Amino acid sequence: MSAPLPEPHAALLEQTGTFGGNALLLTGPARVGKRALAQAVAAQHNCQGARGPYGEACGACAACRAHAAGAHPDILLIEPRATTTTGKAARRKLIPIGAILEARDKGREYDTHVFEFLEVRPTFRRRVVIVDGAEHLGQEAANALLKLVEEPPHRALFVFLAEDLRAVLPTIVSRSARLSVSPLPDALLERALVLGGAAPDPTLVAFAAGRAGVLADPAPVQAALEDARTLSQGLERGLLSALEATEGLEKRWGPWHPEALRFSWRAAPPHERARADAALSALQDALEAYASPSLSFQVFALSLREAFGYS
Ligand SMILES: [Zn+2]
Repeated sequence: MSAPLPEPHAALLEQTGTFGGNALLLTGPARVGKRALAQAVAAQHNCQGARGPYGEACGACAACRAHAAGAHPDILLIEPRATTTTGKAARRKLIPIGAILEARDKGREYDTHVFEFLEVRPTFRRRVVIVDGAEHLGQEAANALLKLVEEPPHRALFVFLAEDLRAVLPTIVSRSARLSVSPLPDALLERALVLGGAAPDPTLVAFAAGRAGVLADPAPVQAALEDARTLSQGLERGLLSALEATEGLEKRWGPWHPEALRFSWRAAPPHERARADAALSALQDALEAYASPSLSFQVFALSLREAFGYS
């Protein structure tokens, strides 16, 4: 499966190991390590061997070996699919009723459905359904799930993951035991980075802000941070340099770039930051609307120069 859990998160397994209820709700920022913890909980509740110091799975029994191979028959992960409307990629993510009931999955979006998955007896000890993005559960899907959470077939365990507790339906929250997954100290991330064979990178560690998942694949994050740095310098140097820098951005634009850009102007005065954020949102809207990318990036360069008072 993945690397061992960082110590502060592994320590949470002490609580989950003795958990006898039907549903856990893990909250914490994106990429802080919620999914890795959920997987460790699922392994823990299926392990047939001798537990570790925190009650964690042994890593050696048949269940643990299946887990390590990514082929654990008793674990189902459900996450939202980005819904599309009128040819435009919508930002709203949704876990539809089709994720729960096969008969309602007209578009065949999900390979395995929660209801059908739970009809089958566990191969090892306990079937575990991980819902990553509980705040994106549609009302219908949540209602169907609640019935299963209240009377889980074969003692199944639900693990809900959410970034923002307030965005989760109260009916889910009230039926779950809550556990918050905290960001890790910088020193721990720095050490993990170096142990992973990478060079120390204080900027990357500051950007990660305790989210271990950001360091799982550091290269694209570092590239985005480098692009953001190049853009900052370009903006300061003049219009032509700014346009050149956004041209580079356009070529390499990826999922990390928006956050890397916001990080690069985090120290600017609030009114400048607000205008820069607005320029970034306008760029993202334009790209989602399939506007001409090169024109959109040029407008972005101009708006940023204005935002920071260079023009
Ligand atoms: Zn085991």
